[in-house]
Amino acid sequence: MIKVRIAPSPTGYLHVGTARTAIFNWLLARNQKGKFVLRIEDTDIKRSSQEMTQSIIDSLKWMGLNWDEGPILQCDRLENYKKNAEALIKTKLCDFCYCTEEDLKPRKQAALAEKKSWKCNRPCLSLPSDERQKWIMRPAAVRFFTESDGKVSFMDKLHGELTKDLHDIEDFVLMKSDGTPSYNFACVVDDHEMGITHILRGEDHISNTFKQIIIYKAFGWEPPVFIHVPMILGADRSKLSKRHGAVSVLEYRDKGILPETLVNFLALLGWSPGGDREVLSMEELISEFSLDKLGVTGSIFDYQKLEWMNGEHINRLSDDELLERIKNFSKLPTRILYSGESELRFNNHINSPASQDFSSTLLSEDDEYNKKVIALLKPRMKTLLDMESYFFVEPTEYDEKGAGKYLTQEGKQRLELLKTRLSELTEFSVENIEAVIRAIAGELGIGAGLLIHPLRLALTGKTVGPSLFHLVEVLGKERVMQRIEKTMEWIKPS
Ligand code: GLU
Repeated sequence: MIKVRIAPSPTGYLHVGTARTAIFNWLLARNQKGKFVLRIEDTDIKRSSQEMTQSIIDSLKWMGLNWDEGPILQCDRLENYKKNAEALIKTKLCDFCYCTEEDLKPRKQAALAEKKSWKCNRPCLSLPSDERQKWIMRPAAVRFFTESDGKVSFMDKLHGELTKDLHDIEDFVLMKSDGTPSYNFACVVDDHEMGITHILRGEDHISNTFKQIIIYKAFGWEPPVFIHVPMILGADRSKLSKRHGAVSVLEYRDKGILPETLVNFLALLGWSPGGDREVLSMEELISEFSLDKLGVTGSIFDYQKLEWMNGEHINRLSDDELLERIKNFSKLPTRILYSGESELRFNNHINSPASQDFSSTLLSEDDEYNKKVIALLKPRMKTLLDMESYFFVEPTEYDEKGAGKYLTQEGKQRLELLKTRLSELTEFSVENIEAVIRAIAGELGIGAGLLIHPLRLALTGKTVGPSLFHLVEVLGKERVMQRIEKTMEWIKPS
């Protein structure tokens, strides 16, 4: 049975790169009816935090990536690493090392200058015995002493056989002098003891894999299957990082991206079901996923494509379901601050008068009304933030250019006329609203646009949006009358 794992370090929010690795592993496990393990690699005590562990768990749960074992915290297994290190010391392939960073600096620098890998050379062994006594009072690390001749190789399912000369691999630490294991050591011990069959992770780990193979060999353990997937790239083809924009999963949640969109989108960065299908449900991803459709070239994270795909997923939801999603979204406890374009969209909501209460800019208390808004907006929505706040709070300002053009004295007269005639409607329906507007346009001998534009500005503060006749119907007579009145007051007398 296939058993895979995701092993994030809780030193930051869950990065979309790690999320994609988690998705590939999870899809493989679910497709093969195997097991998916969550292991938290928290042995870097200074940089790890419980808060980040929690946010990683929240991110995986939000994406629906459920695990079968875990979360297993490496810090709960320290004794185990110690025990394994002691066993390995008996092989003489590794030993205690009392060197401090200071002691090692000159050797590391010299090796760097010669473009060679750094070897420890064990200066402690040649110390006079009294010096050596002092030396070994220091806290000891356990270091692996790699050979200088020979090679280490492994088969990668994507890249084929990968080989490295041993003299290019430095003498590396297994256990640090503070009693915590190094990443490579803990990783091998855990992957072996947890029965991991396939290790699928980013290409940036290839150099670690050579060291891990050395450790597997030293123990006499069978290594698992390795698959190193290409990195996710930014638009400039460099490795995706903060300077390209949001990189944490929760930021995308807070931007109004649906979890199934993010999973679908990330799954397609380096994998394809074949053909030109792009919008896939979780079930489809599970049934289609296979390792042989993984690609070998890096894929670019295209935010616009993510938004497009989110629009597609939003439109697959029923109005009721979308309402539920928006309700949950509006209740999110914390929001991370973002950069770039989406921040502006977000500000559309937080700059409204109800900024203290974000949820009231997304929904009203009245679900019947909410559903009408959803039915109207859904085809245009790209994120959950596209629930236009003007349906729930009166606009406080008008688009400057639009107002200059349409909220004029003439516009005011037109609004006055619209207000009177619309107020006379007994049935406030799309057909009747359209008929009134077209009739006024005919009477005044002007194009309907000269009524539609000022009316849209009065009702929404914006120059673009969904069909005006539908918008007027959904807002309802009372709001429409109030807003026209307010806009007429706003237009200064000439
Ligand atoms: N803690 C490592 C990371 O977050 C895990 C790498 C691995 O999958 O082995 O990069």
